[in-house]
Amino acid sequence: MGGRPYVLVDRDGTLLQDSGFTHRIAEYAPLPGAIEGLRLLQETGFGIALVTNQSGIGRGYFSEEDFERFQAHFIEDFAAHGVRIEATYFCPHRPDAGCACRKPATGLLERAQRELDIDLERSWVVGDSPEDMELARRAGCRGVYVLTGSGASRREVLEASVPVVEGFLDAARHIVDASARCSSAREPQ
Ligand SMILES: [Mg+2]
Ligand SMILES: [Zn+2]
Repeated sequence: MGGRPYVLVDRDGTLLQDSGFTHRIAEYAPLPGAIEGLRLLQETGFGIALVTNQSGIGRGYFSEEDFERFQAHFIEDFAAHGVRIEATYFCPHRPDAGCACRKPATGLLERAQRELDIDLERSWVVGDSPEDMELARRAGCRGVYVLTGSGASRREVLEASVPVVEGFLDAARHIVDASARCSSAREPQ
């Protein structure tokens, strides 16, 4: 156990505009506050990794090479703005495949935990889907739900205890504030 706290971030609808099975570089569009929010988290000491369902691959809408090409463009652009995304974990399977990695299944997070040495208890999942919040619950992380992407339309099915914010920068601020409260509770001055 031990390890480092991470923010495990959904991609489409959370950091990038979700144009529906996004895979063309022409569709690449960071959401407002995404870069700024990640920078804030990074400066606070969180590692950053992506956890994303990409069933468009399994459905045959685009190839894994298309995904990798888009991903390389995205990672490079964020890096040019001072954001280091350490790793990308993706599920390429169809929803009906019954795999162990499609969110809210915890397969991707378990792999990330091993490879990056993540302290799950001090880590967070940010996403625009109730499945992202269910992933957080199952993995023993905390979750923050953003109203970008599909967030606004699926908000009703969320559990009442899940924090809901407008967009990624608010999510980052929520995480920084909540984590500061936790560590000062553990280490009184
Ligand atoms: Mg999403
Ligand atoms: Zn899968």
